[in-house]
Amino acid sequence: MVNILSLTIKEVASALREGRISPTELCRKCLNHIKKTKHLNAYISVTEELAMKQAQEAEERLQRGAPKGPLDGVPFAVKDNFCTENIRTTCASLMLKDYSPPYNATVVQKLQDQGGVLLGKTNMDEFAMGAGSTDGAFGPVRNPWSYAAPYREQTGAEPDRDWVISGGSSGGSAAAVASLSSFLALGSDTGGSTRNPGALCGIVALKPTYGLVSRHGLIPLVNSMDVPGIMTRSAEDAAIVLGVLQGQDVRDSTTVPAPSSPSELPEDFDVRNICVGVPKEYHAPGLSPETLAQWSRVADAFERAGARVEQVSLPHTQHSIVCYHVLCHAEVASNMARFDGLEYGHRSSVQSSTEAMYASTRHQGFNHVVRGRILSGNYFLLKQNFHYFVKAQQVRRLIADDFRRVFLSGVDVLLTPTTLADAARYSDFTQEDNRTRSAQEDVFTQPVNMAGLPAVTVPTALSSRGLPIGLQLIGPALQDRALLAVARWVERRVGFPSIVESRTDAGTTNREQASAATQT
Ligand code: GLN
Repeated sequence: MVNILSLTIKEVASALREGRISPTELCRKCLNHIKKTKHLNAYISVTEELAMKQAQEAEERLQRGAPKGPLDGVPFAVKDNFCTENIRTTCASLMLKDYSPPYNATVVQKLQDQGGVLLGKTNMDEFAMGAGSTDGAFGPVRNPWSYAAPYREQTGAEPDRDWVISGGSSGGSAAAVASLSSFLALGSDTGGSTRNPGALCGIVALKPTYGLVSRHGLIPLVNSMDVPGIMTRSAEDAAIVLGVLQGQDVRDSTTVPAPSSPSELPEDFDVRNICVGVPKEYHAPGLSPETLAQWSRVADAFERAGARVEQVSLPHTQHSIVCYHVLCHAEVASNMARFDGLEYGHRSSVQSSTEAMYASTRHQGFNHVVRGRILSGNYFLLKQNFHYFVKAQQVRRLIADDFRRVFLSGVDVLLTPTTLADAARYSDFTQEDNRTRSAQEDVFTQPVNMAGLPAVTVPTALSSRGLPIGLQLIGPALQDRALLAVARWVERRVGFPSIVESRTDAGTTNREQASAATQT
C-alpha cells in the first residue's frame, strides 16, 4: 500500500479534495513522522498547535467544497531564516534564538493564503552561511539517506556513527521533504543553498530567477543574490509552488511581474525542439567519477531522444568562487551590522560602554563563520581596499555575460552537475574549515546566483554508496517554467525511474527507502 506521506503535492492535493484523507489526519501523520524522525534534526521549531488549527480550517473549507487554493490542507515547512508571525525565527543563530517576528515573509503568507499548513521551521547553517548544515547553533542535520537500506548495505556503515551530511545551508528543509515529514519546504539560495542539499538528499530543488519571488521577510545574507528556493519531490510540484509564490511584491523593489503562462507544465513538451549546452569549464577538479558518469549519461539520453547537445564555454567560471567571496562577505558585513544588541536579538550583559556591549553581543551571538565573514567583508569595504569590491562587480558582470551569450546563441538549457560528489560523511566534511568547504562545494551553483538565473536540481541516480546524485539544469532569466518542463523530462526519463521503470513506483520506492530507514 502506498504511504500517503510519500505522495507528491499534486497527488496529495487531489486525495484531500476527493476526501480520501482529511487535512487534520494528514497533518497529524506529518507531526507524528516529525517525531519519529527527530534524530535527523531537520526542524528547529515544530508549530504543532498552529498546524492543527490551520488543518482544521482547511478541513471545514474542503467539506464545504470551497478550497482556498491548490495547496489547501497541504503541510509545508519553512527554513528558519524566513520571518513567521509570532513564531520563533532564529537563522540557527544564538543572536536570534528568542526572536519572534511581528510579520510573515511574503512567501510564507502566500503559502498560507492558498491553504498551506505550516508544520515548523527547519534547521540550517547559521545565517545560511555554509554548504553542509553543520554550522548552526542547533546542531547538524543528518541526511535521511544515511539510514536507508542502500547506504547501509553498500557501505556497511553504522548510521548513527557514519551518517552523511544533508548539504546546506537549507539542509533541514531538504531532509524534511526527503524523509517524508513535509510535502514541500522553502529554502533560500544565495550561492547554492537550495540546490546543494536538494541534490544530496535526492529531491527536486528550484532556485527561481532573481526577482521572480519576493525576498520580503527573508533575513538577508547577500541581497543582490538571495532568492527563496522551492524544495519538492517532483518538478511538477515545484511548478505548482512557483505558481503560488511568483510575482511582484510592493515590499520588495527588486521583484518583477510573473510572466503570463499557464500554471500546469505543458504535456506536449518535446525534447527534440531544444538545444542542451554542456559547459566545458564545469569539468572541475574534485568532480567524482560517478557524478561525471551521470552527467554524461543524461547528456547522452538527451541526444538519443533527439535534442541537440552542444559543448559550450563559460570562460569566466574559474573566477566565480573568488568573486563570490568578495561580494558575499562585503554584503554580509553590512547586513550583519543591524545585529547590535539594541533593537532586537541577543544583548550581552557587558554594559561598561556602548562599544563593549556591541563587541560582546556580537562575539556571543555569532559563530566563528559569521564573525570571519564580517571581518573580511569589512576589510573589502575599507576605502583603501574598495577596489576589490569594484573588481568583483566587474567580474560578476563578465560571468553573467558568459551565460547571456550562450543563451543568445540558441542554447535553451545548460546541463551540469549540482555538486562535486554524493554526500560526505559528517566526520569527513567537518575536517575542513567552512571557507574551504564552500569554495569547493559551490563551484557549480554560485555562478548562477551571480547571473540571477533560474536553476533546478533533479535526482538522477543513486551512487555506489547508495546516496543520491543530482544534476543541475540552468535556464535563461524568467524561463523558470520552461526549465521545469525540461526537469520533468529528466525526472521521468532518466531520473530515479531509471532504477525502476515507472515514475510513481520508482519515486515511491526510493522515497520510501529513505523514510523507512528513518523509522528505525
Ligand atoms: N555555501 C555558500 C555560502 O556559504 C552559499 C550559501 C547560500 O546559498 N545561502 O555562502
